[in-house]
Amino acid sequence: MRRPFVAGNWKMNGSRERTRTLVADVCKAVRELPEVDVGLCPPFVYVTDAGETIGDAPVRLGGQTCAGVEDGAYTGEISATMLADAGCSFVLVGHSERRTLHGEKNADIAEKASLALAAGLSPVVCVGETLDEREAGRTETTVARQLEVVVERLEQDELARLVIAYEPVWAIGTGRTATPSQANQVHAFLRGCVAERAPNAAAGLRILYGGSVKPENAARMFAEPDVDGGLIGGASLDAKQFIDICRAAV
Ligand code: PEP
Repeated sequence: MRRPFVAGNWKMNGSRERTRTLVADVCKAVRELPEVDVGLCPPFVYVTDAGETIGDAPVRLGGQTCAGVEDGAYTGEISATMLADAGCSFVLVGHSERRTLHGEKNADIAEKASLALAAGLSPVVCVGETLDEREAGRTETTVARQLEVVVERLEQDELARLVIAYEPVWAIGTGRTATPSQANQVHAFLRGCVAERAPNAAAGLRILYGGSVKPENAARMFAEPDVDGGLIGGASLDAKQFIDICRAAV
């Protein structure tokens, strides 16, 4: 039985004050949800504030990305080791906004996942097809390629610490979601791809769905057998909505 995981990706939103309020509200509610792993990814500059507010509450702290190199002269970058040092236990890698706006390629994402694991973080590797790719019947080919490069880069024991987020690009921030059965089909396919290399890791692998998840559609999505939780963008900026989504994962 896989334990559900729901993570909020705040992207470049908020302030120090709002971080503290939002995190405190989530922490209060999460104490009543011991069956779900709940995570938050604030902007880097607020990670420490978020960590202080979390204290001993069962909320995991995550980074929104990390550098593809360990350290050195890389102005503006934040390493996986720094995120771990600041209290993070996971990091998103390969979010579609990083791929499209920052030109991240599959090989860069594989390197980031590997560095995250070396720093003790769980990488949440984001994959997903564009609308053109879906309409051309290339969903599976696209996500398989995105995942394959990461899976080939990692050792068997590292694959056991991997999390995948399936986020169709056409569903991110658009209000348009994949149907639960469309999502489940891709999740089962992704699990199968990992199983070819690491069957034991595949059985325990958590695959989150992301793309316009709201309290109204979360329960149906999370009821699918291969959907193990969600990566939540817009709705994670509202404590009540985010908590209702976390409750839907129980
Ligand atoms: C995301 O950016 O990871 C995401 C899923 O966003 P939203 O929930 O707003 O679609």
